[in-house]
Amino acid sequence: MSYVLVCIFALLLISPKAMARDKKTDMLASADACRKELETSSKDMKFRKNWMKCIGRYENITRRFPASEDAAWSLYRVGNLYVGLFGFSARPADLDKAIESFEGLVKRHPGHSLADDAQYSIGIIYFRHKNDLVQAYRSFLKIEVNYPDGDMVPGAKRMLEDIAVALGENEATRIPVQGEKPGGDYATVTDIRYWSSQNYTRVVIDLDRAVNYTHASLEPNAEAERPRRLYVDLDKTHIKKDIEREIPIRDGLLQRARAALNTPDTVRVVLDIESMKDYRIFHLLDPFRIVLDVERPQDRIKETKLTRKSTTRKARNGILISKEPEPDVSLARQLGLGIRRIVIDPGHGGKDPGCYVGGGIYEKDLVLNAAKRLAKQMKEKFGFEVFLTRSKDIFLSLEQRTAIANMRKADLFISIHVNAHKDERVNGIETYFLNMATDQGAITVAARENATTEKNMSDLQVIIRDLMLNNKINESSKLAHEIQQNVLSRLSGRYRRVKDLGVKQAPFYVLTGASMPAVLVEIGFITNKTERKRITTREYQDHVASGICDAVENYVKKVSETLT
Ligand SMILES: [Zn+2]
Repeated sequence: MSYVLVCIFALLLISPKAMARDKKTDMLASADACRKELETSSKDMKFRKNWMKCIGRYENITRRFPASEDAAWSLYRVGNLYVGLFGFSARPADLDKAIESFEGLVKRHPGHSLADDAQYSIGIIYFRHKNDLVQAYRSFLKIEVNYPDGDMVPGAKRMLEDIAVALGENEATRIPVQGEKPGGDYATVTDIRYWSSQNYTRVVIDLDRAVNYTHASLEPNAEAERPRRLYVDLDKTHIKKDIEREIPIRDGLLQRARAALNTPDTVRVVLDIESMKDYRIFHLLDPFRIVLDVERPQDRIKETKLTRKSTTRKARNGILISKEPEPDVSLARQLGLGIRRIVIDPGHGGKDPGCYVGGGIYEKDLVLNAAKRLAKQMKEKFGFEVFLTRSKDIFLSLEQRTAIANMRKADLFISIHVNAHKDERVNGIETYFLNMATDQGAITVAARENATTEKNMSDLQVIIRDLMLNNKINESSKLAHEIQQNVLSRLSGRYRRVKDLGVKQAPFYVLTGASMPAVLVEIGFITNKTERKRITTREYQDHVASGICDAVENYVKKVSETLT
């Protein structure tokens, strides 16, 4: 009696599941068989119905067992089958189906080992078949950001480099400048500014509105006694009468910058270059300006050698330990990796007060105090060389801030801000690194910190272009996570209800063009009564600073662990 009962229970409990599993395995085997047969017959491949038969079999699996391992494989196979079918049909709709299937895999099976392969396939479809470079760039970038440890990263990086070059070459036609007015009006060059050091020069061309521009470098011409030149041509542009058209720079990098009408319609800004031709160029909005960065590479090479030499000593827990006590060597140097110089950027300043809710408390003052306290701790704890982008209540443009960091050859760039929200109950800490904005809240914060409109911020092309300039996304992401975690743990032990708003990615102009890992920390909300009171105190600012110091220490350790 009991024997029979057990059997019935076993049937009830186990069999349906086991049967389903067998059924599913059969289904995948049958779909695979269909696909393999198709792939061996060039005759069969000419008929759409044969492709659809195999696709249908895979789709049965994704429909009936959507969460299963087999479903992930089926989505991948369907994507590839549609790409194969497109080779015969040339129907764009087949490519869309392929993308849909690969995207389904990425979204519904994010942890699956095929997810980054699917993401890569999407990039290839945009690049090779749809000739949509912006979407292709975005797809490959997602691999670098979302699967940093995956095996598709090297391939994705190569694609990103190729596309960046292609986008640069096609710049004028492919990426129309935001806000361009068609026909008629001319833009005006209102100023040319520069910041310069031995190793680095940034030149900024200010305009009264957006223009299309192209750029190139010219080799030196000995016969004409002309040095190497870098030029930018600005379409439909004139020069303001009273600005200096020729600016001597003579910093060892650039001899001078000059602007002139090239054609009746075009202004050409030329940089005469003394020692090199590598450069990068990008634009910022509101007001429109074009930024040129010129760097001297030899010094970079020297730096790397120095760093490598110092890391050959034995490391334990990522901290380099020397045999003899070296009183002259700072902890910064002992930490190795060449991280010894930090630029801290207190947001806003001068005519730009930042967030303000009344009562005489301005974001610009709070962040200046917080930045000074952070600088003090970093000097004392690590012996870092620390520079502030501003130590007074003065206005700095966003491009000036990273120019300072680049000129100082800083190893890290940390921008300090105070947050705001229309709902005064919202509070907490969040840390950003430069990237595609992922949610509306991030876009809103970025728009405010950039002092531009959300409409501008949502312009994908501008965002993508900004991204192409910062190849430190992984490092910035690591640093941002460390800061978020460590600031929170310092604060939550001492204050009630400190909310973790997480690490976010957004297109901040202030982080654009930084050639080192760069993050932006929002240390609390000025619009929240409790948090506003805290932020104004020296204690709170010190705890935030301690958290950031912990974070930098951990970051250095982790980075050195991966190197040694
Ligand atoms: Zn701010």
